Amino acid sequence: MPALRGVVIEVTTSFDRMWADLEPVGRDPRTGGYRRYAWTRTDHDLREWFAAECLARGLDLVEDRAGNQWGWWGDPDTTPGVVIGSHLDSVPDGGAFDGPLGVVTAFATVDALRAGGVEPDVPLGVVNFVDEEGARFGIACAGSRIITGALEADRARSLTDADGVSMAQAWERAGRDPVTLGRDDEAVRRVGRFVELHVEQGKALALAPDGGEDLADPARAVAIGTDIWPHGRWRIDIPGEANHAGTTRIPDRRDAMIGLATVIQSARSYAVALGSVATVGKVDVIPGGVNAIPSHVTAWLDARGRTEHVVHATVDAVSSEASRLGATTTSESWTPTTTFDADLVGTLRAVLPDAPLLGTGAGHDAGILATHGVPSAMLFVRNPTGVSHSPAELARVDDCHHGVTALTAVVTELCTGKDPESMSDVR
Ligand SMILES: [Zn+2]
Repeated sequence: MPALRGVVIEVTTSFDRMWADLEPVGRDPRTGGYRRYAWTRTDHDLREWFAAECLARGLDLVEDRAGNQWGWWGDPDTTPGVVIGSHLDSVPDGGAFDGPLGVVTAFATVDALRAGGVEPDVPLGVVNFVDEEGARFGIACAGSRIITGALEADRARSLTDADGVSMAQAWERAGRDPVTLGRDDEAVRRVGRFVELHVEQGKALALAPDGGEDLADPARAVAIGTDIWPHGRWRIDIPGEANHAGTTRIPDRRDAMIGLATVIQSARSYAVALGSVATVGKVDVIPGGVNAIPSHVTAWLDARGRTEHVVHATVDAVSSEASRLGATTTSESWTPTTTFDADLVGTLRAVLPDAPLLGTGAGHDAGILATHGVPSAMLFVRNPTGVSHSPAELARVDDCHHGVTALTAVVTELCTGKDPESMSDVR
């Protein structure tokens, strides 16, 4: 990153202190993974932490009608601001970095700007989007979907968790009034531009162009996100016939689980053939007895790819394979390609000219805002394991610091138009 040469920003202290604060919150000691679900006690602790970090910096803390938290430096009602941040919740047994890395680097960026004497000309916001993973109520990016109207308030309130608790009840238990939940045009209007920094959820940055692992190249520590792949979820219902596992002759069986095996295998082989990815990660087996031949299996297929064409081709092929078994395939959700804002991506490329460009197969709040028309973009920090949504998820501490440096340079450009080169001697 030549544009950052000469910029020495002492960000490590505040970043490391915040990271150490968050580390134990919601951590399962048995696995080392995180269970940070929306509107739980753990979520409350994370929200209190966010509020305290805003208070410590004199940022104005506001909550919107979905419960997303915003810490503002400057008044976004005078002119829309630049927003950085991400989310603090996790998937079941998730990693430490997916989400929190974006929030912690955002606060560290505020500290770096202040250490450098940079006063933004436009308001700067730090955001914690609520319930990004959808781990509790099943809808990913719930916080950003609710405020943009992509998720209707009534539907959101009636979503239930595994224990049958609705989102409305969860709000009440958290001391909130679910009647206030809903679309929030005012909160969205305050966001002039959004840059979400996130841990990479694959291994592209950890691999050198020759395919070998390279974790030392600082130019590959941070990438610029260009787009989010099209993705969707399909439900496949596979029929069978319940019968005794011990007394039914093999030729007489109609075993729905055999059909499931075919669906899973065909999802893999068509994904390989077409260059997409397809996953059966959740199944429901009826009756679900060890000694009973399954009479019905429901499988959920998640498919993604670089183009909408390859995703549809994959699902069509799996679906026609499944229909030969008498199974039916139903679309449950579909998100077309999300392309990040060209002007904003152009600014990021000008500030970080050596940073690789990266498309991603994962959904993010930045994608929801981009689809709603808010100029949005992303930065990704190298992940040596390439693993995400697992305790093995990783970003090395020096790469996290590179992330803060990159975000600081981007925010300086967006908030002041100043060349970060001129911020020498910032410590
Ligand atoms: Zn995330």
